[in-house]
Amino acid sequence: MGVFEEIGGATHEQVVFGHDPASGLKTIIAIHSTALGPALGGTRFFMYTNEDEALHDVLRLSRGMSYKSAAAGLDLGGGKAVVIGDPAKHKTERLLRAYGRVVGSLGGRYITAEDVGTTTADMVMIRRETEHVAGLSIEHGGSGDPSPATARGVMAALRSVAIRLWGDEELAGRKFAVQGVGKVGSSLVERLAKAGAIITVTDVNEAALERVHREHGVAVVAPDEIWGVECDVLAPCAMGGAMNAWTVPRLRCEAVVGSANNQLETPEDALRLKERGITYVPDFVVNAGGVINIAHEKGGYDWQKAAAAVDGIAENVANVFARADAEGVEPQTAAVHLAEARIETIGGLRTRLSPGGEL
Ligand code: NAD
Repeated sequence: MGVFEEIGGATHEQVVFGHDPASGLKTIIAIHSTALGPALGGTRFFMYTNEDEALHDVLRLSRGMSYKSAAAGLDLGGGKAVVIGDPAKHKTERLLRAYGRVVGSLGGRYITAEDVGTTTADMVMIRRETEHVAGLSIEHGGSGDPSPATARGVMAALRSVAIRLWGDEELAGRKFAVQGVGKVGSSLVERLAKAGAIITVTDVNEAALERVHREHGVAVVAPDEIWGVECDVLAPCAMGGAMNAWTVPRLRCEAVVGSANNQLETPEDALRLKERGITYVPDFVVNAGGVINIAHEKGGYDWQKAAAAVDGIAENVANVFARADAEGVEPQTAAVHLAEARIETIGGLRTRLSPGGEL
């Protein structure tokens, strides 16, 4: 598909291509929406097989960020950037700073942060060229690694799910299966273990698995076995597409609630889960803890305030359930409706009252 054909089929405000031949920088920044505020979203540094794949990914991810921030009640729009290349081989000071200049050229319409393939140290480098960077380390005045906040948000979502399914928020004695014990998954396991839950985990990384097993005494299964683990909640905390035509028929859980982005491989997977009587809580509502935390960098970061806001995910999830019940749809559709309604109503107010879109 050609570039204009791909962009033409999307609803994005702006797509910017940046190139610095000297460093090999090839970047695409997609601003999906600034209706609610500046478009915040991470920079993904990834060896895409071709430029079409990179464009497709950045368009999809930036739209997801609009929904995530809108559903979390933040005054932020949705954006995302991709840098095409192998972070281990191609990341240099020149490349990062050239990238920082592209971000800077957008004048604050896009704010970047870390994502797959970029680190807080990279953000410090990018910050030397532009102020429109969030998610800096704590010693640089930022909020640091967002993963613990994301895991805290998943816990808040789980409490809401427990109330809906079992009548109270108690997680002690409940069974959880966690796919992926990386930054978020391991923090989630720690929190679940403290709450007295019974946990089974998997990961393709033996070292990560061994550490979590040693620290929390959790049961371990092979990656393909996690789907069939009998449990109350399955928590996908690895890569996207965990819910698909192959995995959903195998599930033996009551709910799917995890941090991974884009858990549904296709929209039909939400219906597949519904048909099986499994409650799927939309990923972009569950995993908003990181972005809520970053949003609190504005005006001076205060962990207590950020944590309280992250805990608000419990209420956001309850609102999604209420809307789903009222509309007779699954939570995924209800959450999209909630996010789109907020973008339209509050975004409309913003353009009406301040035509420049200033915050
Ligand atoms: P991470 O890279 O630290 O952890 C991912 C883990 O999943 C790794 O340990 C990896 O080995 C494992 N994994 C990969 N493929 C697997 C497979 N097929 N089976 C089992 N394990 C597998 O990433 P993270 O920061 O913990 O993020 C986890 C997920 O949550 C990602 O989808 C990410 O996009 C999403 N997310 C993260 C944050 C955050 O704050 N870090 C915020 C929002 C969403």
